[in-house]
Amino acid sequence: MPRPISASISRAAFAHNLATVRRHLAAAAATAGNAPPRIWSVIKANAYGHGIERAVAGFSESDGLAMLDLNEAVRCREAGWVGPILLLEGFFQPADLDLVSRYHLTVSIHCDEQLRMLEAARFSRPVDVFVKLNSGMNRLGFKGGYFLAAHRRLSALQQSGVVGSVGSMTHFATADGPEGIADQATRFRAAVSGLEGPLSLCNSAATLRFPEYAADWVRPGVALYGASPFNDQTAEQFGLRPVMTLRSELIGTQTLDAGEAVGYGHRYRAERGTRIGVVACGYADGYPRHAPTGTPIVVGGVRTQTIGRVSMDMLAVDLSNVPDAVVGTPVVLWGEGGPSVDEVAQAADTIGYELLCALAPRVPVHGVD
Ligand SMILES: *Cc1c(COP(=O)(O)O)cnc(C)c1O
Repeated sequence: MPRPISASISRAAFAHNLATVRRHLAAAAATAGNAPPRIWSVIKANAYGHGIERAVAGFSESDGLAMLDLNEAVRCREAGWVGPILLLEGFFQPADLDLVSRYHLTVSIHCDEQLRMLEAARFSRPVDVFVKLNSGMNRLGFKGGYFLAAHRRLSALQQSGVVGSVGSMTHFATADGPEGIADQATRFRAAVSGLEGPLSLCNSAATLRFPEYAADWVRPGVALYGASPFNDQTAEQFGLRPVMTLRSELIGTQTLDAGEAVGYGHRYRAERGTRIGVVACGYADGYPRHAPTGTPIVVGGVRTQTIGRVSMDMLAVDLSNVPDAVVGTPVVLWGEGGPSVDEVAQAADTIGYELLCALAPRVPVHGVD
């Protein structure tokens, strides 16, 4: 018998979230009298821990898929995805360009080195690109004047048949916070004024909060997995559903006398007689070790809390309000029927993104409809 832990990935929730984000964008576009934007569903980092092949199936209605890893892009093609694929960091060395052309991938161009590699390349089929403006994130991209120069060099490559369409993109740093995106969006608008080609901006936070800024393409990620990019608004408030549910079972119970303590470091000490359960899930499964006593968890359909330190393979829960719980009682760590991944993340002082991406390879994952 394998350990009872597993993660299920809901194909229906993928589709539901994509449709929900699309409706949200369509409503804003209709108000502004614009055409609704197209959606690059972001599936980097093994689709935020959900599995590339499952994401390709779940996002079959998407307009495009966006990711970082060339191998993941190839896996999308092998899984039958024929639509656009955007490599968010472009390519890293000249040898990558063969695959880019062969698998018909769209690349982000964010630095001079990439421009030079493209200028030295020859393809049988032109490669579509998005030039990245550094509008204030200050990670990747060309600043102001350099952006225009890069655009011109790519337009020249368009004439010579190396490059196909030349779009423009940028990435927002503070879409989830009080600063919002106005500053960066204004810089983007100024930089692209007069340029041709499709425009791409808006991660999940900007897509949900500022859909009126969407242009030709948006790039939501975490929202499509049913998690929230905000710390003050839940995914549920936007009508999103968790795609991943992490489940396990109780594999033991203990009754503590007043004064007895639990687990490594004896970090939790019972004030009175307390029945506790031991769950087959620990940090080696991707559950955050920093989740403190009080982190929400559902045992036998009842919401309760973790107690003491999370170990490598186990964690302890308070069974005071789950008197019927026994070995084998089902536990939901996060997802459908449990706390949201964002609630667990917040308790552990991190974000839902990190927990989803960190699901450990040893956890068996299965798809559900
Ligand atoms: C990760 C990423 C996104 C998606 O971000 P979310 O916050 O998950 O929606 C969009 N664009 C770029 C460039 C990214 O790297």
